Amino acid sequence: MKIAIIGAGAMGSLYGGLLAEGGQEVLLVDVWQEHVDTINQWGLSMEGVNGHRTIKNIKATTNPSYAEAMDLVIVFVKSTITHIAVSQHKKLCDNNTTVLTLQNGLGNIEKIMETIDKKNIIAGTTAQGCTLLAPGKINHAGVGDTYIGELDGTTSPRIKEIHKAFTAGGLKTNISNNVLGLIWGKLLVNVGINALTAITNLRNGQLVEFEETEELLELAVEEALAVAMARGIELPYGDPVAHTKKICRATALNKSSMLQDLLNKRKTEIAMINGAVVTEGEKLGVKTPVNKVLTNLITVLEKNQ
Ligand code: NAD
Repeated sequence: MKIAIIGAGAMGSLYGGLLAEGGQEVLLVDVWQEHVDTINQWGLSMEGVNGHRTIKNIKATTNPSYAEAMDLVIVFVKSTITHIAVSQHKKLCDNNTTVLTLQNGLGNIEKIMETIDKKNIIAGTTAQGCTLLAPGKINHAGVGDTYIGELDGTTSPRIKEIHKAFTAGGLKTNISNNVLGLIWGKLLVNVGINALTAITNLRNGQLVEFEETEELLELAVEEALAVAMARGIELPYGDPVAHTKKICRATALNKSSMLQDLLNKRKTEIAMINGAVVTEGEKLGVKTPVNKVLTNLITVLEKNQ
């Protein structure tokens, strides 16, 4: 299968590397010239949970305009730039290309739809964890399941093909008939953890050690749950507050991506996480004051960098 990854940072490089190891023809597409050059010259260096190795059968580019249309394009830029990145690289797609988003946050499907026909888009979630260490070098920090599915919930031949390719790369993958529920399920966890850790500079596990942050986590997740219920979303698990606290404990030592983004003076995905809960709540008449406060605080921290 010919696969391009738009946004070959931590996660894009991880999926690209594993898919290349599984025998797929992979092209990484990124704007970071040094990263692209390093991969083309030396290969992609991967360390972490599955040991250290260098993946050589992988190409990278900042300018894929010469490339033929792909069978699969995976979008792994930050949610803040999904629309720009997909429209910049639309030549990677023709009528037969499937475009998959595994990004965090709400609104990525809609932003891809501004460039790509809805029938070509599939979505999912990932519980893998990865960080970028240097140009051409990543740390596979945690293993977790990938879920993929058609937006209409059917199990199509293309979903089965992609499932096969992912599995061949060692990515434990499940086909879901409720990807929107999965995306919201992941959103609720991020709503409870990301902004609070970024504001307080706490690691995930510490959020449930202080009663003050634990209370705010509960309130933020309950508001998001009320919005999800008003939207008619079927969540993949019961009791989102208990589930989020469980994830805090399971990832106790992790610094959330939003905390890392703030520490590295990068733009966060706040607008697609707590901010999206506020926006959806406004549309549906559900009040979300705690998420509004968290969104505004992160926005000010970003602006003041
Ligand atoms: P990242 O910042 O490491 O990677 C994003 C990459 O996109 C960067 O390398 C950047 O140079 C590139 N980019 C920026 N503009 C581009 C453009 N116009 N065209 C092509 N590339 C462009 O981010 P990440 O941590 O890999 O996260 C990607 C997505 O996956 C986010 O939605 C994140 O929330 C989600 N996610 C991350 C993790 C994780 O462990 N890192 C886990 C689950 C989900």
